[in-house]
Amino acid sequence: MIKIYTLGGYEEVGKNMTAVEYDGEVVIVDMGIRLDRVLIHEDVEFQKMSSKELRKLGAIPDDRPIRDKKVVAIALSHVHLDHIGAIGKLAPHYPDVPIYGTPYTIRLAKSEIKGEEYFEVTNPLYETNYGEIVQVSENLAIEFVQITHSIPQSSIVVIHTPEGAVVYACDYKFDNNHPYGERPDYKRLKELGKEGVKVLIPESTRVAEETKTPSEAVAKMLLEDFFLYEGMEADGLIATTFASHIARLQELIEIANKMGRQAIFIGRSLAKYTGIAKQLGLIKMKGSRVLRSPNAVSKVLKEVSQARENYLLIVTGHQGEPGAILTRMANGELYDIGKRDTVVFSAGVIPNPLNIAQRYALETKLRMRGVRMIKNLHVSGHASREDHRYLIRMLNPEYIVPAHGEFRMLTHYAELAEEEGYMISRDVFISRNGHVVEIP
Ligand SMILES: [Zn+2]
Repeated sequence: MIKIYTLGGYEEVGKNMTAVEYDGEVVIVDMGIRLDRVLIHEDVEFQKMSSKELRKLGAIPDDRPIRDKKVVAIALSHVHLDHIGAIGKLAPHYPDVPIYGTPYTIRLAKSEIKGEEYFEVTNPLYETNYGEIVQVSENLAIEFVQITHSIPQSSIVVIHTPEGAVVYACDYKFDNNHPYGERPDYKRLKELGKEGVKVLIPESTRVAEETKTPSEAVAKMLLEDFFLYEGMEADGLIATTFASHIARLQELIEIANKMGRQAIFIGRSLAKYTGIAKQLGLIKMKGSRVLRSPNAVSKVLKEVSQARENYLLIVTGHQGEPGAILTRMANGELYDIGKRDTVVFSAGVIPNPLNIAQRYALETKLRMRGVRMIKNLHVSGHASREDHRYLIRMLNPEYIVPAHGEFRMLTHYAELAEEEGYMISRDVFISRNGHVVEIP
């Protein structure tokens, strides 16, 4: 019998963690963090805290239901923090159990583990390529299927069991025109559908949107439509987006090159994500600069403020996060941001109350300084309702357990599944954090 332990991400957008058990053996997929639960406590130092303290804050999943089980592998779907951010805290509960993921995922997971100060992490990490099937026990094997999302080398994780496949699709979108060639592996997904999918565990963050999520090519065009026309006459230009959104950063570098400006990346997380992307040949940094040390930042920003028209600054802080570069600029630090500057938000507002409040404060401060803002030159990395419908039709799963979403998102997913012939409590199961779904 297959059991699905829904440990995190079943009541929220964040801290994803699911465990699949077959015949006493367990594969864990993802160990995420819920950052807003950390950020509301200003004195919290995440790296130095124990898993127990963080669990009490609701910042990381409560893995006690599987703590004594025979865990044979940990698989990471992609390297967003809400999928891997708790790895330093939770992997030590399963000492020496191997961790698998695509190369970009594993290399960044390693840097996450390096920053861990409370535990020592001894798990071996293995880089796995798409299409490889890794036998993790006599009965169980895992596979990473290529998919598109908003970070490189994202995967749909498949756990092969003697009763059929368990397919974990958190997070994904179907991008058929990705500007840098990433593609969903429809062929493999359809094959899996033919071979027999026992359980589908899909994300549900945007299932209420009755559409298909647009391609990253649309975001590229939105950016070009401003920067390469009106932007050519602008003075100071500052763009902000997700530090891990490598495709978006590549678009901004290309735009800066076309404009005859130098792209300058400022912010620690931008340096981290672009650094590893560059090692793996996933981004071409030609014509750009990355500032790491605080000294370099203040020196270069002084030069920039003397000749703003020569640069495109790419900074952290699109959600108004405390300590991020744009937030500090809005507070009057680092750079005299003002009337001569335009800030382009290539990101939406992450819809949780803390983010909304921080972003509101940021925008108000920028407006008070006379900064012009262009918001929402962005497309989502998450599947909408019609993408989800297509995935169900390709995989034709026997059972569905919607994941990664607040309660209302999970129920929206269940409603979609009913349209596709499933029925809640019969073959679609809404679960909560800490519960287990026993597949009949
Ligand atoms: Zn994600």
